[in-house]
Amino acid sequence: MVWEDSLKEDPQYHTRDFTWTNLAGLNRLTEQVSKEVLICHVIRPNSLTEEDLLSPKCIPQFKVKISIRTWPNKPLELQTMINIALDFSKGGEYLSLQPTKSVVIPVKTCRKFYEIEDGFWKLNGKNNASHIGIQKSDINSAESTVNENIKKARSAMYSLMGTGLHGENGLDSKTSISLIRTYILPILTYGLEILLPKGKILNNISIQYKKWIKQILSLNSNVADSAVYTLSGLLPIEAEIHVKAINLFGNISRANCDSIEWRLAERQLQIKPHNSCSWFIEVKELCLKYEINDLYAYLNNPLSKFQWKKLVKSKIHDYWTSKIIDESKGYSTLKFMDHKYNIGSVHPLAISVSANLKDIRKIPVRLKISTRNYILQTHKASFSKNNYISPTCKLCSKAHETVEHFILLCEKLEEARIPPLSKILDNGSLILAKVATSFPIDLIQLIINPFCYVDINANRTVFEETSNILEPMCRQLLYNLHNKRYALLANIDKQGSRKSNF
Ligand SMILES: [Zn+2]
Repeated sequence: MVWEDSLKEDPQYHTRDFTWTNLAGLNRLTEQVSKEVLICHVIRPNSLTEEDLLSPKCIPQFKVKISIRTWPNKPLELQTMINIALDFSKGGEYLSLQPTKSVVIPVKTCRKFYEIEDGFWKLNGKNNASHIGIQKSDINSAESTVNENIKKARSAMYSLMGTGLHGENGLDSKTSISLIRTYILPILTYGLEILLPKGKILNNISIQYKKWIKQILSLNSNVADSAVYTLSGLLPIEAEIHVKAINLFGNISRANCDSIEWRLAERQLQIKPHNSCSWFIEVKELCLKYEINDLYAYLNNPLSKFQWKKLVKSKIHDYWTSKIIDESKGYSTLKFMDHKYNIGSVHPLAISVSANLKDIRKIPVRLKISTRNYILQTHKASFSKNNYISPTCKLCSKAHETVEHFILLCEKLEEARIPPLSKILDNGSLILAKVATSFPIDLIQLIINPFCYVDINANRTVFEETSNILEPMCRQLLYNLHNKRYALLANIDKQGSRKSNF
């Protein structure tokens, strides 16, 4: 019997000796008579006085909380127990089993699963229910948790819209990305280190995540994935889940050797075959992927928290850096990108010089051009059927509108081009002269992505000069060209429609 407010046991009514031998004996005894042991706490209200206890009228005031019950293997027995509990909860105030809150979820395990008819349980026969925020489901817990997480993360995104987290015209990319990392990512990956989603489910969450980053960076949805990661400096969601899972294993390895988790880990790692569905084996496979070998040794000689995290971080970062860089080299659209992936830092192309809205507005155009996502006449033509759209520049009608034509050659844009371009040439030659480059410098590459020629590790001052002086000029040039082009195109459209009206 425990007190209602403190849940402390009342020694006065503590009659049964609670030891393992005692309990085992009791269990054996009940088995003989086909009964089950039920361990429960009787909650005693504080208002109840010793005098009340003398009369049986006090009974309705007690509450019973079932703590442990040995779980029968046969569905019929289980059903009988549920029925009894249900009847009690309906009939009197004795049992705190809430028919609306309690659910029965038949869980499939690899070994046994009982086929039962619909409506058999007579208690809320739901397919899924949440327990400490993780969705448990009879078919696929990972799927329902992922769906729930996406839903929650989406509402968190909406709530952050007020602060300016909406891509175009909002906060600058650096702040937006760190907002995502701080507020959205934990919601999106909550509980997934335990469920380790795979295949289609993992794909769903990763598509959603990439879509949000693209929207924040004002990129089109068809931009190559590796560009999303190199520009934002974020890890793919798969890697984030792996970091969490392997860190959780680190926590278990540091736990006390008597703890259930540690003993489970020891047992599973020794006994289970490599194709098992055990969480520990899945984590072991993950670790092999990242070249962290022999988890069992780490279990017996655990690293400190700091050392483990450092190891995991470096291994996972190495793996994904090389993977993403390799991928990005394979895309023809990313030929102007510099194929550098600094995890945790936003690419300098996407960082605005100041928090001024005027500066921030120039970034989307800049990013679209450097990921070759800026739609010019030649792009339109290559996607049109039957050559319906001509690739010729609409402004001057003299040549095909390629990136080179748009940035350097088109005569109609001359006015917007010449002042910033001469500045770029002056400063660019001054800055780049400081780095000894053996390869020739391509002007178009310099304008689209000057960071190709400078390495932050090789020469820091040159890198800073590039990002503070050269990059804003290039950005200004592209922004001017973009505005001029659209103004001219709008004029042409107006004239066209006027003609057709006559
Ligand atoms: Zn032109």
